[in-house]
Amino acid sequence: MKHLRLLFVILLLGLVAAACGDDTPSTDGEGDPGAEGDLVVGVSWNNYNEERWAKSDEPAIKAALDAAGASYISTDAGSSAEQQLADVEQLISQGADALIILAQDGTAVLPAVQSALDQGIPVVAYDRLIENPGALYITFDNVEVGRMQAREILELVPEGNYVFIKGNAADANADFLRGGQQEILQAAIDAGDIVNVGESYTDNWDPAVAQTNMEQFLTQNNNEVDAVVASNDGMAGGVVAALEAQGLAGIVPVSGQDGDAAALNRVALGTQAVSVWKDARELGKAAGEAAAELAKGTPLSSISGTTSFESPGGNTMTAILLAPIPITQDNLSVVLDADWIDAATLCQGVEAGSVDGC
Ligand code: BGC
Repeated sequence: MKHLRLLFVILLLGLVAAACGDDTPSTDGEGDPGAEGDLVVGVSWNNYNEERWAKSDEPAIKAALDAAGASYISTDAGSSAEQQLADVEQLISQGADALIILAQDGTAVLPAVQSALDQGIPVVAYDRLIENPGALYITFDNVEVGRMQAREILELVPEGNYVFIKGNAADANADFLRGGQQEILQAAIDAGDIVNVGESYTDNWDPAVAQTNMEQFLTQNNNEVDAVVASNDGMAGGVVAALEAQGLAGIVPVSGQDGDAAALNRVALGTQAVSVWKDARELGKAAGEAAAELAKGTPLSSISGTTSFESPGGNTMTAILLAPIPITQDNLSVVLDADWIDAATLCQGVEAGSVDGC
């Protein structure tokens, strides 16, 4: 009898532990996990390699779901497009009523998205485009991010040799950004004022790969590089390290995006010219709210704040597009005022009073 009771306790503990596990539906404190009427939203992350995903996007999604009375389950594909297909299936089998997908590869993920939609499970294409008009596309205006990056660099370097460090080729954002950059620079390129002396995609937006590519561009050009349009902050870090090794950090302007803490500090220090800030807390909130609505059965067309977006693949997507903000030494107080970063982190090593906010 004693043994039976012990067995029962062990089984019960096991059940409780399983209910608390990361990939298991959790509740907002009311009711049983997976209880009838409890909406579950599954988030498929491609990786957490960028600071923003775990620090800003994920907590905002969780908070929005919590407020809507929906629970959160998630998977991390570890940068594998194949794993992400399995992850989406797993989220569905765990009872997801709606999915939020940050695609590793916008094309490879298409069968999983179609399968979810066929099963009546709505999908949010989070931050990165997935070419299926049945999905709700929630992102920042990525072409505008590219324009903002190029505008800042062009102002500093109206003539000279430019290098372009692009994002992951399988992520539609890489080309949206590059397109926006080109729009701004085209006239100066046509006039012969700006010369493109190096351009590469960067596997998985990896800073180490960006650094190696930048080292090669410097070598190929005998260090005669005047400006670098880097597509995000992580890669900007790799680029600045390559420039530093040649004594060029702070001399050759570099762009980025995301408002990563290290990048904003580089902006304050003067080794990065601009970080286009996208308040990922707002994006996560919008996606969490929309996913909860969709999970309840609200049709795409009734989700508030949407516009239509013509995709490169010829699809008319229902989209929510948020506005990015370029951050330079002149407006660092914007990210401080928004509680995005604290002054000690932003201004580390910066001479007091030398830039806005420090
Ligand atoms: C996002 C960027 C991010 C990059 C790497 C892009 O799709 O828009 O904010 O830096 O992926 O994670």
